[in-house]
Amino acid sequence: MSGALREHFPAGFTPRPEQARLLDALEDALAEADADAKAPRLFVVEAPPGVGKSHLAVTLARWSDNAYLLTSQKLLQDQYDREFGDVVQVVKGRDNYACERYPDARVPTSLGLCRRPRGPICQCPYARAKAAALAGPVFCANTWYFATLRHWHAEQLPRRRLLIVDEAHNLEGQLVSVYAVRFTAAEMKEWFGGTLPRLDTADEYRPLLAPHVERLDAELEAVGRALEAVRPPDLEPDVFLQMPPSREEVVLLERRDALDSALARLRAFVEGEATEWVVRYPPEPGATLELTPLGVAGEARALLTECAEVTVLLSAYLGPATAVAETLGFEADDVRAFATPSPFPLEQRPIVYRPVGALSRASLPALEPALFAEIVGILGAHPRDKGLIHVASYAVARRLMADLARRAPAEARRLIFAESSDAKAAALERHRASAAPTVLVSPSLREGVDLPDDFLRFQIVTKMPYPDLGDPWTAARRARDPRWYAVETAKALVQAYGRSCRHAADYGVTYVLDAQFERFLQHNRPLLPEWFLDAAHAALRVSPFDS
Ligand code: SF4
Repeated sequence: MSGALREHFPAGFTPRPEQARLLDALEDALAEADADAKAPRLFVVEAPPGVGKSHLAVTLARWSDNAYLLTSQKLLQDQYDREFGDVVQVVKGRDNYACERYPDARVPTSLGLCRRPRGPICQCPYARAKAAALAGPVFCANTWYFATLRHWHAEQLPRRRLLIVDEAHNLEGQLVSVYAVRFTAAEMKEWFGGTLPRLDTADEYRPLLAPHVERLDAELEAVGRALEAVRPPDLEPDVFLQMPPSREEVVLLERRDALDSALARLRAFVEGEATEWVVRYPPEPGATLELTPLGVAGEARALLTECAEVTVLLSAYLGPATAVAETLGFEADDVRAFATPSPFPLEQRPIVYRPVGALSRASLPALEPALFAEIVGILGAHPRDKGLIHVASYAVARRLMADLARRAPAEARRLIFAESSDAKAAALERHRASAAPTVLVSPSLREGVDLPDDFLRFQIVTKMPYPDLGDPWTAARRARDPRWYAVETAKALVQAYGRSCRHAADYGVTYVLDAQFERFLQHNRPLLPEWFLDAAHAALRVSPFDS
């Protein structure tokens, strides 16, 4: 029987030894799950960069012939589509497709003909993609889309043989965001007559918001009536629907969808008293109020167990299996962990430790000059290499850019700042297209980016990637479970490190400049994978003053 899983490896590829070993182990575990109702059904698979996780995911999906395959981002979904389009059926959110009933106007399917009052349903790219994914053997979506669909329309997603979640280290954060209730300042003004007060706890918002549920229901009905009234009475419905929606109708359609979604979340919040929620409401005028569940263990467990017989979580690193189980609402015995070492020798992926001081929010102002000077030195040591600088925030990135423009203008010209998460794709494009030794600067390129070979020969981790305790959700989550905070830091550090070496012939050096690195390793060694620790320990053995 052994080897049956390997036979489903994507056509034209041969499994590497690490992949073959993982597949054999997974095959045994799947057989055990079939034979024994009490056997673990949540598999945690850790495979460092270069092992080829997407090939493992596709092999499992093909073998099952009945799988949900989830990616953490749309970019990765596109990658699956490009590489395995013959195996997976990809579906994205409505906004990614255009309504075909208005070929001369770019109308997203979220505002398409069938979304308008009396608009008949037809088969558009979105409807076709969704139907094909639902009917096909491998339904491939991003986690946010899938969890949202499952949360509000569970009946559309029947139980499958496998649920495979790629880049699953983000799963908790993504689920938290699916269930959060959010009101922008404009929505509060429109729906509640003004911004809502700042209250200390989420529980205090329940009695405040409960009476609004009924009122917003009435408001939703009113928007429905307003949509009906948009059509001039002398115009036949058929004729009217042939015209793309007017600006007025688009505003109403968007309002209806926003209200609909806010109401569903609001109801879940008002009625879900058993769950602990956290308030995110920054002090700035015009801020968005967000009520976020502190944990999603119950929801995650329901999602994973009801959507499939067996769930496989894939990532370079997910943290201890016991922590994964706890976060997702499982018992430790329900989880089976599989891991493989890095296929790359240490020489191709060294860490160089050059501490400038223990960086923290408090110490940063004093230590920044030394930090920036060190960065200039490293840039000077790599005059012809492309690289990546991981910074703590967009504000630090701006100060770095300004400082280098004064201190080292030639090095400053190499920098490409991805100044927001929306600007990431364009910055990456510029970096890849340029023949110059450009260096990306960003707080959000630790994961989900592939910069092989000459696209990245060095990277700098300026500050240890501790999650921001200025965020109330992060602070509350840490207060509840200090180990969670250490695990998240370890995951972020490992993700950043994983950018340096992407395949067997690749190489890249990672500089770490924060003295907290050493302390973190001393305290959290068991939280880190061996393939990271071997590089980290080698770095610490070399005196920072020798390197
Ligand atoms: S189903 Fe038809 S009408 Fe609806 S958005 Fe798609 S193409 Fe347009």
